[in-house]
Amino acid sequence: MKTAFTARLLYTPTGEIPNPLLVVDDGRISEISSRAASAAPANFSLVDFGDATLAPGFLDIHIHGGAGLDVMRASRSELPRLGQFLSSHGVTGYFATTVAAPLDATCTALERLADVIDDKTPDGGPSQARPLGIHLEGPFLSHRRRGVHPPEYLVEPTLPIFEKLWQAARGHVRMITIAPEIPGALEVIAEAARRKVCVSIGHSDAELPAALEAVKAGARHATHTFNAMRPLDHRNPGIIGEVLSNDTLTADIIVDGIHVSPEVVKIFLQAKGPTRAVLITDAMSATGMPDGRYQLGPIQVDVADGKATANGSLAGSVLTMDRAVQNITKFSNWSLREAVRAATFNPARAVGLSSDYGRLEVGSIADFVVLSATGEVLKTIVGGRGF
Ligand SMILES: [Zn+2]
Repeated sequence: MKTAFTARLLYTPTGEIPNPLLVVDDGRISEISSRAASAAPANFSLVDFGDATLAPGFLDIHIHGGAGLDVMRASRSELPRLGQFLSSHGVTGYFATTVAAPLDATCTALERLADVIDDKTPDGGPSQARPLGIHLEGPFLSHRRRGVHPPEYLVEPTLPIFEKLWQAARGHVRMITIAPEIPGALEVIAEAARRKVCVSIGHSDAELPAALEAVKAGARHATHTFNAMRPLDHRNPGIIGEVLSNDTLTADIIVDGIHVSPEVVKIFLQAKGPTRAVLITDAMSATGMPDGRYQLGPIQVDVADGKATANGSLAGSVLTMDRAVQNITKFSNWSLREAVRAATFNPARAVGLSSDYGRLEVGSIADFVVLSATGEVLKTIVGGRGF
């Protein structure tokens, strides 16, 4: 069954098409053109979104939960509710992200998440974001830059521990955040990179040489730049100096206006540019919920006035990806299309997702959002469904 969608504009997102015609056939995009070039097809149903813009569905490669659910604790039957919440904010795919926890509890969570990722039964009901992989944030993090990750669950990286996590996740680990300066890190970085895991440096107190070694070993991304990192010093640039100055690295950032000031967000965008900047939410279970006490894996977090904290440290965020995209256009002179690119094409490429994701082109999965001119999500379509 073919359906054609039209609107005022479409972001591919590396380019834009005015008066687009997006044809979806069995969950995939079978044609993209401008209505000027191709007459509206007579034989399919046409859905007209008027003045709106069509863009790829947002991808969130660093998210711990939302709608009261924590990805390490939620049951299989509860996770679809997180997917629905995320899709209401424009997200169509995400990496379920762990925090440092007891190894056995982590493995149990990874097994459950792998089951959910492997479950390909078509979901009925409202459209929902799909878990596309797992991001291990920890346990290989720096004690000095651990943020709220419990110190008792941080461990030095070894290949056997990495293998145990990999097996529990049945190969669905797509990303790992690791502090490169801790003993054993470089070996795990090299092995993870060999398995096509996106190795991201972060929660790190690395000086410049350790950051350079990490890149040499296979690291290619950085986790929530500025947060939980040795601060930049102009004579001792450290990890941030490498992250901002190395054009082969992509990097992500939390643009909620709380984790990083708008001025520093601008510096980040100028350094990484529209092709290498990636937006994440780092959202935890309280996202979309009233103020109160919530869980982030094993950590108890208090949320008040949009700020999630544990013992005075920021503990994830309550940011949603649609707001992150809008914030970019407020904090900088970036266009909505560039902001959208940082939530779609750039993360897909940074983590090595296939061309099914993060772009609107013939052959890719029909995951897309319908946006207002200011970036509000009007509708989210997952696999061609949900309009
Ligand atoms: Zn996180």
